[in-house]
Amino acid sequence: MPEKIRFEKHLRESTFRNPLTNNELDTQELEIRRDPLTGAQSVFNPRLEDKVAMFYGRSDPALIEKLARDSETRCFLCGDRWREMTPQYPEDLIPGGRIRVGQAVLFPNIFPAAQVHAVIRVGDTHYVPLGQFDARIIEEALQAALQFSRHLADTSIAVPYLTINGNYLGPAGASIAHPHFQVVGGDLPFTALETLLDRSRAYYRQHGTCYWSDLVKAEQAGAARFIGSTGPVQWLSAFSPQGSNEVVGILPERSNFLDMDEADSEGLAQGLAKVLHGYAEMGISTFNFTIFSGILGRQDETFRSFIRIISRQNVYENYRTDDYFLQKLLRNELILTTPEALAGKLRPCFS
Ligand SMILES: [Zn+2]
Repeated sequence: MPEKIRFEKHLRESTFRNPLTNNELDTQELEIRRDPLTGAQSVFNPRLEDKVAMFYGRSDPALIEKLARDSETRCFLCGDRWREMTPQYPEDLIPGGRIRVGQAVLFPNIFPAAQVHAVIRVGDTHYVPLGQFDARIIEEALQAALQFSRHLADTSIAVPYLTINGNYLGPAGASIAHPHFQVVGGDLPFTALETLLDRSRAYYRQHGTCYWSDLVKAEQAGAARFIGSTGPVQWLSAFSPQGSNEVVGILPERSNFLDMDEADSEGLAQGLAKVLHGYAEMGISTFNFTIFSGILGRQDETFRSFIRIISRQNVYENYRTDDYFLQKLLRNELILTTPEALAGKLRPCFS
């Protein structure tokens, strides 16, 4: 079978006189990778491999605890405060105004950044270290999100493009410590989603198969980046990551949120918890994730739902951002831990 998925690497060199080595000529090797679907680039300099601490600093647990304690007294997700302090959807969209599943509560964002922008309270605990995220609590939140997507499908509001997302702690963009997810969507696809859908269709036209199913098969066979599975969800590290320590979990049989059942939300929740536990062991204190969906309710052989999880800068005083011109404007990512090494670190969490 001809190779449909190409894991493209470009090896380059950069030469200069290095004061660290007596001003002798120093040639450093660079490995530039391209995402097999989108072509998005990332770069790895092996000399930076042991410089992770220099880039990400050390998480400061005492500072995190202090920030959490200070914000807990005015947190609108703690205790029963959400009942008084959070907005509600109109009755014809969500009967009762909010969706509740166990400790999860879904309600509208008071300052929406999309036509549909819901916030989900994830558990009743104000601050949860990454190593203590509980799969059942995450699952409740994901079930609330999927229920919400089914409500949207039943109404006249046209929201074909929907995503489930998370920011955790300040360096990842969260404005509150309390764990929360966000569901955002509308009738225009988000930039990254549009690229993924377009490129997935182009791949299907060219090869007659689904890129995402092919990717799972290729990574399972290749093994270097395959991490494990949780129920129907297949987990791997991204060949050319779009963020630090990127992990992808693919649902090989599901193209959009309306296809998903409880086994899917359970598998996603279990895997997300395992990745966060692995991040915690690596000293990481923050994360972002997005769960991508094809067009709601449309059977689409070209696309599969998947989650992309990345870590962000660690929490410490006066931390430096991890997103500079390279990522934000040039849209290339810097690799400090190779995807293959990352898969090796996370595999024990999945066994
Ligand atoms: Zn709280």
